[in-house]
Amino acid sequence: MKNIILTADRPTGKLHIGHYVGSLMQRVKLQNKGDYSEFIVMIADAQALTDNSGNIVKVRDNVLEVMLDYLAIGLDPNKITFCIQSQIPALSELTTYYMNLVTLPRVLRNPTVKSEISQKEYDKEGSGVPVGFACYPISQAADITAFKANIIPVGDDQEPMLEQTREIVRSFNRTYNTNVLVECKAVLPENAVCYRLPGLDGSAKMSKSLNNCIYLSDDEATIKKKINSMSSFPRNIDEPGIIEGNVMFTYLNAFANDAHFSKYYPEFKNLDELTNAYQKGGIGDGRIKKFLNDVMQELLLPIRERRCEFEKNIPMLIEILNKGTKKAQDMANETLNEVKDAMGINYFEDDKFIQDQINKYNN
Ligand code: ATP
Ligand code: MG
Repeated sequence: MKNIILTADRPTGKLHIGHYVGSLMQRVKLQNKGDYSEFIVMIADAQALTDNSGNIVKVRDNVLEVMLDYLAIGLDPNKITFCIQSQIPALSELTTYYMNLVTLPRVLRNPTVKSEISQKEYDKEGSGVPVGFACYPISQAADITAFKANIIPVGDDQEPMLEQTREIVRSFNRTYNTNVLVECKAVLPENAVCYRLPGLDGSAKMSKSLNNCIYLSDDEATIKKKINSMSSFPRNIDEPGIIEGNVMFTYLNAFANDAHFSKYYPEFKNLDELTNAYQKGGIGDGRIKKFLNDVMQELLLPIRERRCEFEKNIPMLIEILNKGTKKAQDMANETLNEVKDAMGINYFEDDKFIQDQINKYNN
């Protein structure tokens, strides 16, 4: 069986460097490897609406921002099907049937959903949490299974969603005695610090919702300002530097390579050497920030330049999404049809159902 790759992003803002190392880099690698029959990248606007129902402008405005980021980092519309979630009605239908296979406590136990709810400051009893938000992992299961995707390149906050998806797949196949649905697995970044890149403020995850991001499209001055404003542990320059919980070093671990050292920080060959020297003392955080800034500017300049080029051709982007969405609709409809067949609710195409009903009332 050839792989089917699927992944999605919520259009709640532009994409950031956490997305880059957590998922986007893996997508480019998988795209270039070419070992797949379908590769679908979805803009998950319906999921974004689960906690932004009153802010449709934000979601609408970010659909193309996300698409621009995709093309800017090198995802290729000739190799990938780009689509918009809300325009694929089969996903909502699948969600409806899957909801019956998941219990309420199971939905509320999802650790990612739990931590997102606590970040959002819904009132203490959770009574402000929209049902759609609590259930978004179920709709994510619909997104994945609709395309029979088996490979999902994501950050590790998505593991609980994939576990939920696998449970639904097993439950569906068992309940309806079928093998229509396919189990999926995550492809996580190779470097574990990229599983969940922390925010500039040191919080556990860089996230659009937490406003602690370096965006792929930030300009040179903004990047520099954000890096300079990163908090560091106050100390005298001669005192030993602390690495644990030091976000500057986490970012260097995620982004800096040996070539960056020879170009911008030739006193050291690699991150291990710099880390040792920093721990001994004598290196100020200003110097580390300068190096980190050099590394980030080198990465983000070409991405920003490509983005500017694509910004000149918005009708082309819309056409790519429109075409991809139509293809995705066909694929999802096909799975929905198989699902309804397996459940026995394709009444009008089911000759046996029709004949049985006739016999039932005529005998
Ligand atoms: P929101 O705050 O609206 O949820 P987000 O920043 O969490 O936005 P998503 O659209 O939810 O972004 O996530 C898209 C993909 O990027 C997912 O695969 C997720 O695992 C990955 N991702 C997001 N943030 C990070 C991060 N800080 N580190 C690694 N991967 C991340
Ligand atoms: Mg998220």
